[in-house]
Amino acid sequence: MPLKSFNDLEKHIVLTEEEREWREDGGHTLPILVSDHLTPLIADPAIRRQFVPSVKENKDTIGNLDPQMEKEYSVTSRLVRRYKNRAAFLVTDSCFAYCRHCFRRRFAGSMVGPATEKDIYEACSFLSEHSEIKEVLLTGGDMFTLSDSSLDSLLHSFKEARPDIIYRLCTRALTSNPDRFTPSLFEVIKKNSFGAPFYLMTQFNHSLEITEKAESVINNFIKLGIPIMNQTVLLRGVNDSIEVETELSNKLLSLRIKPYYLFQGDLVQGTAHLRVPLSKGLEIEKGMRESLSGLGLPQYTIDLPQGGGKVPVDSRYNKGLKDGIWTFSTIDGEERHYPEDV
Ligand SMILES: *Cc1c(COP(=O)(O)O)cnc(C)c1O
Ligand code: SF4
Repeated sequence: MPLKSFNDLEKHIVLTEEEREWREDGGHTLPILVSDHLTPLIADPAIRRQFVPSVKENKDTIGNLDPQMEKEYSVTSRLVRRYKNRAAFLVTDSCFAYCRHCFRRRFAGSMVGPATEKDIYEACSFLSEHSEIKEVLLTGGDMFTLSDSSLDSLLHSFKEARPDIIYRLCTRALTSNPDRFTPSLFEVIKKNSFGAPFYLMTQFNHSLEITEKAESVINNFIKLGIPIMNQTVLLRGVNDSIEVETELSNKLLSLRIKPYYLFQGDLVQGTAHLRVPLSKGLEIEKGMRESLSGLGLPQYTIDLPQGGGKVPVDSRYNKGLKDGIWTFSTIDGEERHYPEDV
């Protein structure tokens, strides 16, 4: 049984004061859930900090629950369109384990459940009428918490509506529940592989997450001809060193996964203690550039607050640090700010 409470957790690890206090303190914005697969792995601090909550979450007053302003950018109940040529569909709010750094805290674990047939129909109609949209992220939550039959029906609806779109299958399940990828699930994916290719988007934040089971899932996706891209979130006490990031990138490359993005932490309320100062992130990126090939180097990226969109941290969009505040310009030339002290 997955760990859903601190009583469950205490059977596996000795809780620190800050972890224990989370339970007593109210105002949680994300439930606790640690999958069976992750339970033995939380013995390591790099995994523990990603899944075991601390009272620091409740004390964080910086930011809000929706810095990307996804609500405002929603064009149907579940379709978020922040860019002209691509959009994100929120398949479900459920995950196999909840990441304490989750940037979609307004939605993940909120118990709204999977998209209904109507939600799917509305999104598909919108996509049919907007041929300028070329890519759709199937995300959430974790799409693979759906049953095989629900996934089959969802994938079929999207593919029927727009077979020319590249659908990104976004999941954290290779880290949290690799057993989900059964032969029958691969049959569902294969069956719906007509039209433009699927891309698999994983989130591995530390090489310890790449277990033998995860490797076997990766190999099965590769056998289906599905390219794999990895997104890593830069996290304090998890992967905030050149060595850890380099090891992760090399491991990913050896498994045919392209390290795609390294994300600066978003200003999501409850995640400040996991963020890394941006100046340190730039140092880490510099070190990675010296130790990795272009193929192994993810793009260090920030998703600018107030729905500013993604820009590379080390680029012309970064206008520099002054009085503890970084100034960025968005692609559209608007200004956004990000604090150095998190
Ligand atoms: C991140 C994101 C995308 C994809 O952006 P890429 O830079 O192409 O990876 C699309 N839509 C939304 C709403 C996003 O947050
Ligand atoms: S799997 Fe994704 S949506 Fe779910 S908690 Fe983790 S980051 Fe958030």
